[in-house]
Amino acid sequence: MNRAASKIRLLMLLRRQGITDVNVLRAVELVPRELFVPTPFRDQAYEDTALPIGHGQTISQPQVVGLMTQALAAGPNDKVLEIGTGSGYQAAILAKIARHVYTVERHRPLLQEAEARFAALRLPNVTARLADGRRGWPEAAPFERILVTAGCIGYPPPDLVEQLAPGGIMVIPLGPDHRALKVVRLRRPLVDGDGECGLQREELWPVRFVPLLPDLAPYPPQCGVG
Ligand code: SAH
Repeated sequence: MNRAASKIRLLMLLRRQGITDVNVLRAVELVPRELFVPTPFRDQAYEDTALPIGHGQTISQPQVVGLMTQALAAGPNDKVLEIGTGSGYQAAILAKIARHVYTVERHRPLLQEAEARFAALRLPNVTARLADGRRGWPEAAPFERILVTAGCIGYPPPDLVEQLAPGGIMVIPLGPDHRALKVVRLRRPLVDGDGECGLQREELWPVRFVPLLPDLAPYPPQCGVG
């Protein structure tokens, strides 16, 4: 099957899986996922599957990208913070929907590859940087939307909660341990109320994600000595 046909098949599958938001479907249609996966996996770019991108990380399954983007409900006036740039695919999808996307990655080589893709695809409304995403991006805060694309244990990072604008939404894979993650949607009311850190919480569905890790990854990578 050629690429255009497999893309249409994927879009139809995503609709059946409940992704009905036209902005999300349009973004999936516009962003060439084959440019975000390593060459040996290009043939599988429009399969509904996560694929390895190096450094033990993965580009998320299209279904997960679609459902999380839909749950985030970002609009054209929103400033979005993404934690876990990875391949850059999710950031590119958000860039087609939101005003500006700030994205943070802890692995330098992944970040550099993602930035090259943003430039090649002429996505001027994406800004990426190397940092520990648990700290957010204080200089650009507050954000109307925050999307965390790595699994978080216990509670959402306090700096991210702090950087969420009033009326804002955070979508984050959260759980008591990495085998029991759920996509959770947190909303900050316009006026802070009671509840978890003053946020309203909805548990959406179970999910698997690579972990949100502390600090920057060592670079250059340590070779296995001894
Ligand atoms: N959104 C990505 C997939 C995310 S995979 C895509 O569209 O391809 C999760 C990513 O989170 C990995 O690249 C991992 O290196 C990164 N990550 C994990 N902990 C992090 C942290 N503390 N700060 C920033 N990035 C982190």
